[in-house]
Amino acid sequence: MTSLRALSKEKLTDLQSALWNEYRQEQAKGLHLNMSRGKPAPDQLDLSMDLLRLPDSCILEDGTDARNYGILQGIPECRKLFGNLLGIPADQIIMGGNASLNLMFDTMAFLFLFGTGGNRPWADYRTVGRTVRFLCPVPGYDRHFRICEKLGIEMIPVRLLEDGPDMNQVKELVKNDEQIKGIWCVPLHSNPQGVCYSDAVVEELASMETAADDFRIFWDNAYGIHHIYEEVPLKDILTACEKAGHPNRCYYFFSTSKITFPGAGVSLIAASPDNIKELLGHMSAQTISHDKLNQLRHVQFFGTPEKILIHMQKLADLLRPKFDIVLQKLEEGIGQDSSIASWSRPKGGYFISLNVSDGCAKRTVELAGQAGVTLTAAGASYPYGKDPDDSNIRIAPSYPSEEELAQAMDILILCIKIAYLEKLLGNQPK
Ligand code: PMP
Repeated sequence: MTSLRALSKEKLTDLQSALWNEYRQEQAKGLHLNMSRGKPAPDQLDLSMDLLRLPDSCILEDGTDARNYGILQGIPECRKLFGNLLGIPADQIIMGGNASLNLMFDTMAFLFLFGTGGNRPWADYRTVGRTVRFLCPVPGYDRHFRICEKLGIEMIPVRLLEDGPDMNQVKELVKNDEQIKGIWCVPLHSNPQGVCYSDAVVEELASMETAADDFRIFWDNAYGIHHIYEEVPLKDILTACEKAGHPNRCYYFFSTSKITFPGAGVSLIAASPDNIKELLGHMSAQTISHDKLNQLRHVQFFGTPEKILIHMQKLADLLRPKFDIVLQKLEEGIGQDSSIASWSRPKGGYFISLNVSDGCAKRTVELAGQAGVTLTAAGASYPYGKDPDDSNIRIAPSYPSEEELAQAMDILILCIKIAYLEKLLGNQPK
């Protein structure tokens, strides 16, 4: 496509009316297409249905009956299975409940209520009129930001570059401000950009000097084995922290939400032995044990880390054609004209991050919505829902069928162009 900016005002106006005609025809179809959240499609969920026939035996390797109370840390065979998968010693893992977001919220809440390692509780800052601050690489996961917002944590956006957060910016901030207590990280196939952290970034996060003794990395490896086009390795953050003399710096989260059933899988938190001891102390007041039958179900279903990876390949085979459709449609519809839009080309994960022309994201999402295509709210991937450039839109290709996705992308591309033309021409024809 020739660059729209090269066209005369007259030609642009003609193009605008043509696009509006097309848009109205799409609108008349009364479609209901949803690309708003990263939900697996039914065919992905079907791959895990045999889980529901398990466990076939409830007796653990050590003879314990999994049907009863107990084993707060999670059954050893489940900690071993995921420990081997992720390269983490089983005794540095606590199995949580049905989803990892819960563990993230609880961990943050524990830090607020009790502090960590003898430091004062983060809630104390409020009593002296100060706030705890957290670094938020942007764009990022809206529910991380929601946790901060709920707890009154001030969010400081930091740039997310191709290989992780902008470490110059991060190091400068954490070195000087004792109220900065941590950073959110989605180190592989990040939501929404698909960024994968380089070894150098992992090293720096582990070793950087922080003004706060109780600085914590919330390492949410939600997409740690979700490779679609290319397998990407990740440096071991827990070992890097230990080697750098900051063994307690990191909490590592993982779940099977995007492996088996979202919200009905198993989750885990991994950390240093001291952190695990501290967390278990808090959790022991919270619950007697998490769902061991679900843990056992997952152990019996998968058996080995290798089988988990084979399952992931089957999921990737279902997701890949959908990512192909989104990328191909963008390529055909927008091409190289980056003034209209540019997008991420992720190697895995669940999302494609689209940047439309500054000031056009909300309008594009609005237009798409009025033509029956629901997208994640513009700005959702930024703290407080505010994208300063009003440019970013998250595309979640997993849930719609391939046919629906192709239709939805055609409409989205139409809306991107209409919003851009409105910006160029300074009008909003009806
Ligand atoms: N972290 C990230 C980065 C996610 O994208 C998601 C799911 N969209 C989650 C966590 C949620 O995981 P869970 O279901 O285990 O709470």
